[in-house]
Amino acid sequence: MREEKTPLQNSISKLSRYLVAIFLAASSLILVVGYVDKLPWLEIFLLAVAAAVSAIPEGLPAMVTLVLAIGMRAMARRNAIIRRLVAVETLGSATVICSDKTGTLTLNEMTVRRIYVDDRSLDVTGEGYQPQGEFWHGGQKISPSAQPSLALLLRIGVLCNDALLTREESCCDIMGDPTEGALVVAVAKAGMDKEKLEDKFPRLDEIPFQSEKQYMATLHPGDGGRVVYVKGAPERLLSLSKYVMRQDSVVPLDEAGVRDIMVAGVAMARDAMRIIAFAYADLPGELTELRDEDIRGNLVFVGIAGMIDPPREEAKAAVKLCRDAGIRVVMITGDHKITAEAIGRQLELAPGKTVTGAELQEMSDGELSGQIDDITIFARIEPLQKLRIVEALKSHGQVVAMTGDGVNDAPALKTADIGIAMGITGTDVAKEAADMVLADDNFASVVAAVEEGRAIFNRLRNVLLFSISTSIGELLALIVALLVVGKAPLLAVQIIWVNLVTGTMVAAPLGLEPKLGDELKQPPRSPKTGLIFSGFVLRNLYLAALMGFGAFLIFAWLEPRVSLDEARTITFCAIVVFEWFLTINCRTDEQTVFKLGFFKNRWLLISILAAAVLQAAAVYLPFLQIAFRTVPIGPGDWGLIILTGGIIFLIEEARKALFPKLFSRGKW
Ligand code: ADP
Ligand code: MG
Repeated sequence: MREEKTPLQNSISKLSRYLVAIFLAASSLILVVGYVDKLPWLEIFLLAVAAAVSAIPEGLPAMVTLVLAIGMRAMARRNAIIRRLVAVETLGSATVICSDKTGTLTLNEMTVRRIYVDDRSLDVTGEGYQPQGEFWHGGQKISPSAQPSLALLLRIGVLCNDALLTREESCCDIMGDPTEGALVVAVAKAGMDKEKLEDKFPRLDEIPFQSEKQYMATLHPGDGGRVVYVKGAPERLLSLSKYVMRQDSVVPLDEAGVRDIMVAGVAMARDAMRIIAFAYADLPGELTELRDEDIRGNLVFVGIAGMIDPPREEAKAAVKLCRDAGIRVVMITGDHKITAEAIGRQLELAPGKTVTGAELQEMSDGELSGQIDDITIFARIEPLQKLRIVEALKSHGQVVAMTGDGVNDAPALKTADIGIAMGITGTDVAKEAADMVLADDNFASVVAAVEEGRAIFNRLRNVLLFSISTSIGELLALIVALLVVGKAPLLAVQIIWVNLVTGTMVAAPLGLEPKLGDELKQPPRSPKTGLIFSGFVLRNLYLAALMGFGAFLIFAWLEPRVSLDEARTITFCAIVVFEWFLTINCRTDEQTVFKLGFFKNRWLLISILAAAVLQAAAVYLPFLQIAFRTVPIGPGDWGLIILTGGIIFLIEEARKALFPKLFSRGKW
């Protein structure tokens, strides 16, 4: 992970500076009021320093880092590994997730279901990677060896192929690209043996598959020369073909022939199948090196295979979560438009336009930008085109998460607000460019990370809310009491104790608050808003006022009635107890804690208990009584404190029940 200051950490340091200014101003005010009240100058001085020192949120940056680090661990447990801290905070504000289809939204478990040769479609039976299955046409079982075109298609499929079928004790699995693995399985179903064929037709050279080329070709010895076997996207191979195979003869490929083939391909695609075509060409002479030119316009088209790749169940659920969370899901694939749309329907993606790579090529940046909000699917896309998609979305102010695995995905991953690389299928280049790596390549893990990101942000906000509102609340109590009563309600040492011991103790567990469960039911927060928004500032002031006046009233009421030390001890305890109530208030901003459950954040309860023991020690242990100038207080005093604290607590909870959105303004 790289060492860098995230926007969040920057805004925290900025906030800290503002707070320092506020507290210095408050300290100066204390000096002035104390002077007017004719308090002993040492007492005034100590008060002012204590207020300044302890109210300054020097612990905040450390607390932020801690919350982020804990959040990263939660994300890692849900298969999202954060490479850059900045991703944690950006994730929560993601508005668009651009996801690869194959392997991320789908299982990447391919099975050949249909084969189109000789102008007819055959069905292939069998499940998974087991090499048992049959070929059927119109209610009749077909023997592949008796069908020259089918046998040739299968031979191309298995020789122009780098995958292997492995027969472990629990049969069977494939090694390599699942698209190719599915073909090896289909060929095995036909009773053909990959190794024997490879011995007979060794590979002399190859053009490996690349998404931007959309085909793969291999060179083998043929009848009196060479033969090249090609497989790839049907449109692509058709554009390279001059002939088509019919039974055991080769006929010229005319427009009607192209149309028939495409109709068959689209029919498969409509059933959500990934389509892949096969062709060959006889090459004269002793060619040893295969170049793209060698196959251009020379191919004999043989047929098409259609393979299913079921959508991931969790991905479908995650797409739904995104809809509630106000996040758009955009599917990006190299597959055919019709296939992509069929899978999109199965996943229940939001309705929208589909744009192909070729159409994208023709669009100007302006045209793309004009349509980008309506496009749900990008099909037949080359990896490098993803960059334009990211840029168009970003120009609309979207916060874009983008997945990728290949080397050519890197520019898009770098440019996206959150670049996400695949942990299993991803290349090192993609991982290096990414902010986050998915351990399981699963779209659902992206959404889980967004949920965690939002929860982390809420926790940070809650920690801030508590720290700021209680600091301001104490200052308020102090200043108002000095102004009205003419005496300090707390001693300097008590102020420091409240802030450094019992206050901090109950602030930190707010960073461990479990998820509320509504993280994905709200729209994404605006990245510009960040931590501080107008409602947040108001809520700070309102809570500070409740607490400050509560403490002031207790002191003002007691001061003429009991000794000054006793009045101070009770005010001291009151402020501490108010903070415990407030920390529970701060767990949520819209839901009441009654609805949420009191015992969900066990760390908080434990901390409050521990703080209570310490506070009791400060009041009842003789040597601490000397240090804090406290006197023992009775049950009636505690009753008064808890009653007042409880009222403050209930006021805020009633506010949540009655006006849940009162302090939400500016949040989005
Ligand atoms: P995706 O983004 O969905 O993984 P790809 O770019 O890998 O899509 O594939 C695009 C198209 O290229 C597929 O629809 C298929 O027709 C073809 N294709 C995919 N894999 C191979 C391969 N290994 N060899 C030849 N063609 C392939
Ligand atoms: Mg692929």
